[in-house]
Amino acid sequence: MADSDCLFCRILNGDVPSTEVLSTTGTYAFRDVNPAAPVHVLVVPRIHIPHAGALRAEDALVLAEMFSTARDVAASEGVLESGYRLVLNVGDDALNSVPHLHLHVLGGRRMGWPPG
Ligand code: AMP
Repeated sequence: MADSDCLFCRILNGDVPSTEVLSTTGTYAFRDVNPAAPVHVLVVPRIHIPHAGALRAEDALVLAEMFSTARDVAASEGVLESGYRLVLNVGDDALNSVPHLHLHVLGGRRMGWPPG
């Protein structure tokens, strides 16, 4: 179910290097190459899902695993108590740039609202 044209599928199969934070059966968490906060980790499903708008009811388990991994990332990065932000970008206005579902885990600084 990997897409050879997809950057994050290529990270998942080891063709493109990444800095691992956590790995689970259905998900992989790695550091964002261009961090927007002291903690900036991406959590991706191992199966190729293009974006959050393409999720179907049968993806419920992998989605739950992504959020569980995100919490474990927050714990291992030391921001579970201070707080963290989870972001899913969908489409051009949200500046979604990689067409493989990914949950941004951001923390380690006070963040503004609404996002810019
Ligand atoms: P989005 O804008 O939501 O599609 O987020 C894509 C994210 O992937 C951006 O924050 C990029 O900095 C990050 N990114 C792009 N290429 C890589 C890479 N090779 N390794 C780690 N993060 C990457």
